[in-house]
Amino acid sequence: MAIVRLAEELTRKIAAGEVIERPASVVKELVENAVDAKSESITIEVVAGGMGSIVVRDDGVGMDEADLRLSIERYATSKIRNEEDLDAIRTLGFRGEALASVAAVSNLRIVSRSRDEADAHALTMSAGRLEKVVPAARAAGTTVEVRDLFFNLPARARFLGTPRTEFLHVHRVVQRSALLAHGIGWALTHEGRGVLDAPAAATLLDRIAQLYGPDVARALIPVEGQRGPISIAGFISRPDLRRGNRRDQIFVVNGRVVEERGLAYVLASAYRGLLRPGGFPIAIVRVDVPPESVDVNVHPRKEAVRFAESRQVHDALAASLHQALSTPHVVASILPSREESRAAERVSEPSGKQLPFDLRTAVSTTGRERESEKVRIGGDRRVVGQLQCTYLLVETPDGLEIVDQHIAHERVLYERLRDAAREAGIPRQLFLLPVRVEVSFETAALLSAHREDLEGVGIVLEEFGGGTFLFREYPRILADEQSQYGFQELVEALAEALEGEQDLKNTMFDRLLREMACSAAIKAGDPLTLTEGQRLVENLMELENPYTCPHGRPIVFSLSREELDRRFRRT
Ligand code: ADP
Ligand code: MG
Repeated sequence: MAIVRLAEELTRKIAAGEVIERPASVVKELVENAVDAKSESITIEVVAGGMGSIVVRDDGVGMDEADLRLSIERYATSKIRNEEDLDAIRTLGFRGEALASVAAVSNLRIVSRSRDEADAHALTMSAGRLEKVVPAARAAGTTVEVRDLFFNLPARARFLGTPRTEFLHVHRVVQRSALLAHGIGWALTHEGRGVLDAPAAATLLDRIAQLYGPDVARALIPVEGQRGPISIAGFISRPDLRRGNRRDQIFVVNGRVVEERGLAYVLASAYRGLLRPGGFPIAIVRVDVPPESVDVNVHPRKEAVRFAESRQVHDALAASLHQALSTPHVVASILPSREESRAAERVSEPSGKQLPFDLRTAVSTTGRERESEKVRIGGDRRVVGQLQCTYLLVETPDGLEIVDQHIAHERVLYERLRDAAREAGIPRQLFLLPVRVEVSFETAALLSAHREDLEGVGIVLEEFGGGTFLFREYPRILADEQSQYGFQELVEALAEALEGEQDLKNTMFDRLLREMACSAAIKAGDPLTLTEGQRLVENLMELENPYTCPHGRPIVFSLSREELDRRFRRT
């Protein structure tokens, strides 16, 4: 095929595809411009997940008519002048292509008034063609309206999600922007309904409280550090407050939210051994380095950066995290005992119901406790000890079995839930004092949308507003097992299950049961008495398949007497 020059209009569309992937990318570019324009307050109004319209209003420096006409031209920017400027970027934008890219794939209208001018001007474009510029009225600042995104690019439009999904992405962008610029007031609406309202905040912590709720803010610990020109500042979660995913790990490098695997890795390493598996810390951390030591021009949507000396930056972060995590108040809160976490009695059923395990008396199986304990011999298996608070050692007629206590308990709870669901439905229990959880906006949307599915697995939630939900009813099978801290984590795990498997009802149902069983189950690290261990092993052996967990992970590892004899050369 011969080489041809693509029509300019086509090249614009192609380039736009890189920058403008979905409504959230439009929002990201427009709010970045509003932040760069030194606004004090920014409002974002979205309809149909942004596929209908996106309107971003700011009270920043604005543009005069000449600038307005230039703003929509590709590679026209007020933020850099020459190549040297690229080496030390202090603004969020710098390529001068965002408005051109948005204009190429939508119907666009910009109304702007410069702070130095008396008149405003309105510019309209359709599919990249300038239609008109006319006088208008407006206070100083800029309003950008984007309608019918991708109307001229149907192939792209087909890859968009539902309005709800697209709005979740928009929300995430706005939330992150609100974190990177806490001095600015932010408001976001969807379909006319207020979703986020964060007036200008004095500190990052105040902003976090606005967005995540005061309970989360209180449970955070400050991180601070300075190493040469590198400074680190922000907040991370105490190890007992954790999320089911990495969504709330936000790194702001020189005022820009970026994905930088190295930083995420340093964070994960700092928490190693402090968090139970499947839990992720919250982290909102600013990393400031001299602008010339970081390349921000490495990603089409400016979502990544490259450090000149990444080792130094990572070391500085590691040191700050380490210091933050080793302060005494943190250590005291690490891995609360089950006893502590169950301290709040919330179960309304005072009937002398037999608990499968009485963990209130849980102590490590060492010393006198163990001697004095009467170990019941159940079936032909006898629990003889617990290894590192994680594995049960079980004597059998054939030799030794090592049982993973968490997976075993998870399996027991899972099968009980499943059997109950198959029979008369999962019996629920009312909490006298409902358990409160605070969730992200995304999680709230998923929980509300799947109210019936959740009831199907025995969970009745009440929306309390402001991202707060109350657990009103909960499966009786789990109610006594679930630690108070577990609910926060559970709710995120449930949301993840609901988000992931919307179309396959059965898979989703099963996944919800597994998440619930996993969350309520004894964890690795929980000390058990021999009696508790024994009861667990007996319950396990009653199951259909005691040897593998629902995902095929082994629960039991056995070592036969024969094998032992061979090892010791007895045969
Ligand atoms: P960039 O942000 O990379 O410069 P854009 O295409 O996003 O490129 O914007 C082009 C120019 O339009 C900006 O450099 C800025 O001068 C102007 N501009 C865009 N949005 C605004 C706004 N909300 N307020 C003031 N000026 C704006
Ligand atoms: Mg820009």
